[in-house]
Amino acid sequence: MDRLDHWIDGKSVAPSSGDYLDATDPATGRTVRHVARGTAADVDAAVRAAVAAGPAWLRIPALARGRMLVDLARAMREDADNLAALETSETGKPSKVALAEVENSATYFEFYGGLVGMPAGETLDVAPDQHVYTVREPFGVIGVVTPWHLPLNQSARACAPALAAGNTVVLKPSEYTSASSVRLAQLASDVGFPPGTFGVVLGTGGEAGAALVHRPEIAKVAFTGSVPTGRVIGGIAAERIVPLTLELGGKSANIVFADADLDAAVAGAVQAFTSNAGQVCSAGTRLLVQREVHDELVRRLVEKVEAIRVGTDMGPIITRSQFEKVQGYFEIAESEGVRVETGGRVSAIAERTGGFFVDPTVYTGVDNAMRIAREEIFGPVLVVIPFDTTDGAVEIANDSDYGLVAGVWTRDVSRALTVSGRIRAGQVFVNTWSTASVQTPFGGWKNSGYGREKGVEALHHYGQVKCVTVKLDSSRM
Ligand code: NAD
Repeated sequence: MDRLDHWIDGKSVAPSSGDYLDATDPATGRTVRHVARGTAADVDAAVRAAVAAGPAWLRIPALARGRMLVDLARAMREDADNLAALETSETGKPSKVALAEVENSATYFEFYGGLVGMPAGETLDVAPDQHVYTVREPFGVIGVVTPWHLPLNQSARACAPALAAGNTVVLKPSEYTSASSVRLAQLASDVGFPPGTFGVVLGTGGEAGAALVHRPEIAKVAFTGSVPTGRVIGGIAAERIVPLTLELGGKSANIVFADADLDAAVAGAVQAFTSNAGQVCSAGTRLLVQREVHDELVRRLVEKVEAIRVGTDMGPIITRSQFEKVQGYFEIAESEGVRVETGGRVSAIAERTGGFFVDPTVYTGVDNAMRIAREEIFGPVLVVIPFDTTDGAVEIANDSDYGLVAGVWTRDVSRALTVSGRIRAGQVFVNTWSTASVQTPFGGWKNSGYGREKGVEALHHYGQVKCVTVKLDSSRM
C-alpha cells in the first residue's frame, strides 16, 4: 500500500519516527494509504527549511513571485484529475465535486498571484519636513493548520495569500486528508518555488500540529477547524504573542420570508445543508421560515431532499467517529421530541458499501433552544424553525454562539438590506447561498472565529505594517 511522506525542503521525507497512520476512504471504510506520523523532529526540519527559504523567496521580484503562484494554479489544473482522485480517495466525495474543488483551489493561487504587485503602503502628510510612509512586510514563517472536509481548498485558501505576501509556509493538514496537500506542495516545487518555501508536515494535531504552533519561528498561525481546537491554539498564540486567524464552526441561519421566491429558497436551503454532506463550516443548518409559508416550504423541501441520491450526489461522513457523532444527534433529536420529515437514519447504501453514509435529514417542530438547533453537527441535518415577524426572525438568527453566515430570502429590497444589517455574522447572502468566490472576504463573528481569509482582505492578515518616518533637512526646503 502507498506511503505518503512529508514534503520538507522541496522533497519527500519519511517520518523520523518511522511511524505511519492509516488514511481511510469513508465511502468504503477501507484503508487507502499510510500517512507519515509527524513528530516535533519533523516539524523542526520543516520549520528550519522554511526559515532558510525566506530570503530566497523575498529576493524574487514581486511580479515574478506572483507569476509563480499563477504557474502553480496552472499546474493544479493540469493535474486536476490526479488531485481530485486523491481528494476523493480520502473524503469519499463524488469526483465531480472534487474536480470543482480543485478548480476553486487553483483560483486562490491565480487571484493572489495577480495581487502580488498591488500597492502595499501609503504616504502620510504629517509635516513638510517629514517623509512618512508605511510598508506591509511579511511575518516570516506562517504555520497553517487545516481540517478534513475541504482539504485542498482549505490549504490553498490560507497558503496562497500567505505566500503572495512574501511569507514561507509550513502546512499541517488533517491527518485524515493529507494527500492533496502534499501533492499541492510537490506541484509548487515543480513550478520553481525555492526549496523550503512551502513545506507540509503530516500527522496528528496533538503531535505535529501542537509542535508546529509552539515553534518560536512561527510568526503567525492560520487555523481552520473546530472551536475546542481553536481555543487551545488561541491560548498558545496568546502565550507566544503571535497573531492568529481562527476560522471555526457555524450554525448558520437561512431566513425565508413569505414573499420570497419559494422555489429558489428551497433550492438554496437544500444546497446550504447538503453540500459536502453538511460538512462545511458555512452550512446553513437552521432554516427559519415565516409561518404562513412554513408547511408549503417544508413540503417542497422534503421532495427535493428525497431526490438526492446518497453516494452519487452526496458523499459520506468523513470518519467513523464523526459518523457515530451524527447518529448521536439523530438520537438527541428523537429525545427532544421533534418531527422527522425525512432522513434521521443511516443510509441504506452504508450497509452495501461499508461507507459512512447518512440520509439527508430535515426536522420540524424545532425550538431554537434545543441542542440540535444550537450545536454544530457537521452532517446533512437541517432544523426548520417557524417565525412570525422580522424582529422574531432576526432574534432567532442571532441567538447562537456562532456567527459565520446567514441567508435572507425576500423580494423586498428594504427588508433584505435592513435584515442583513442586523445579522451578527461575517457574511450574509440575499436570495442566494454561495461562498464560492475567492474574491469575497470570509470569516466569523462570535465563536466562529476572527481574522479573514479570501479576498484582498486576507492579504492584509498575512503582512504587518511598518511605518517609516524620515526627517528631511528643512534648511534645503
Ligand atoms: P479539528 O479542530 O479537529 O482539527 C483541525 C486541524 O487541527 C487538524 O489538522 C488537526 O490535526 C489539528 N489539531 C487538532 N488538535 C490540535 C492541537 N492541539 N494543536 C494543533 N493542531 C491541532 O477540526 P476538524 O474536525 O478537522 O474540522 C471540522 C471543524 O472545522 C468544524 O467545526 C468546522 O466548522 C470547522 N471549519 C471552519 C471553517 C471556516 O472557514 N470557518 C472552514 C472549515 C472548517
